[in-house]
Amino acid sequence: ATPTSIMVGTGKAAEMGVLFRKGDALQTLQEADIVALDKTGTLTEGRPTLTDFFVQGGFNEAEVLQLAAAVERGSEHPIARAIVEAAAARQLPALPASDFEAEAGFGVRARVGERQVALGADRYVTRLGLDPTIFAHDAERLASEGKTPFYIVIDDALAGVLAVSDPIKPSTPEAIRTLKKLGLRVAMITGDNRRTAEAIAAQLGIDEVLAEVLPEGKSDAVKRLQARGLKVAFVGDGINDAPALAQADVGLAIGTGTDIAIEAADVVLMSGSLSGIPNAIALSQATLRNIK
Ligand code: ADP
Ligand code: MG
Repeated sequence: ATPTSIMVGTGKAAEMGVLFRKGDALQTLQEADIVALDKTGTLTEGRPTLTDFFVQGGFNEAEVLQLAAAVERGSEHPIARAIVEAAAARQLPALPASDFEAEAGFGVRARVGERQVALGADRYVTRLGLDPTIFAHDAERLASEGKTPFYIVIDDALAGVLAVSDPIKPSTPEAIRTLKKLGLRVAMITGDNRRTAEAIAAQLGIDEVLAEVLPEGKSDAVKRLQARGLKVAFVGDGINDAPALAQADVGLAIGTGTDIAIEAADVVLMSGSLSGIPNAIALSQATLRNIK
């Protein structure tokens, strides 16, 4: 492409709220074969709410939620906010917690009074030496509804299963349909439960799901796509998306996301809306067509 056509293309993109931080991204973007998107905060709002809650073993719901909120006050995960808000909505007094520990991609734990409380994915429960499959029936149903099931362990007992639901952004379905019309494959990369991810992907017509990817594994997931000979555009918003944004042939960050993601990206979508993705790709295709 000539410098002039790139300048014109970059200017048009800016009018649509798409910022090309690196000049060659406008050229590389039209070579993309697959668009891989982070789920939480990219395809979804990133603001889950607590929707379901089952307790067992003599615990009552209010005390379990109160203990859960005490631990989650130490966490910055979107699930944590959902729990803290649910406890506040029920006007449960906050309990002080100590010895907070987060294990990225697994869960969190802390001491609350005399109790040791942990919350996290099924793999976290397994790691703590307990068996989450007693809740398998509920967890599978919740996940098939696109909700994220997770567990609470109190002292040495599995006390309950909870689920959060994170709404899909209004702009997501149309953006995915348009990407497919432009001839691209669409993939989702997420740390979430496989069944949850697959339910959401099916709803959106997403072709491929890479689920239960640990936070530091997202750039490897991009590499695996590239190893198949695919040129990859990756879209993400979070701190742990930065390495994948850098690894991708083109990295696109959500402008409402973290600064670290924006710094690592070639392209920034100024609003949270995903319509900028197909717009940017269509523009890239048109720019390159014009000068051929
Ligand atoms: P994602 O960003 O896709 O949710 P993460 O790697 O952050 O992926 O988390 C993976 C899983 O680990 C979550 O779906 C959840 O089951 C569990 N998890 C992580 N942090 C927490 C937390 N603070 N509270 C409860 N569960 C958590
Ligand atoms: Mg995210």
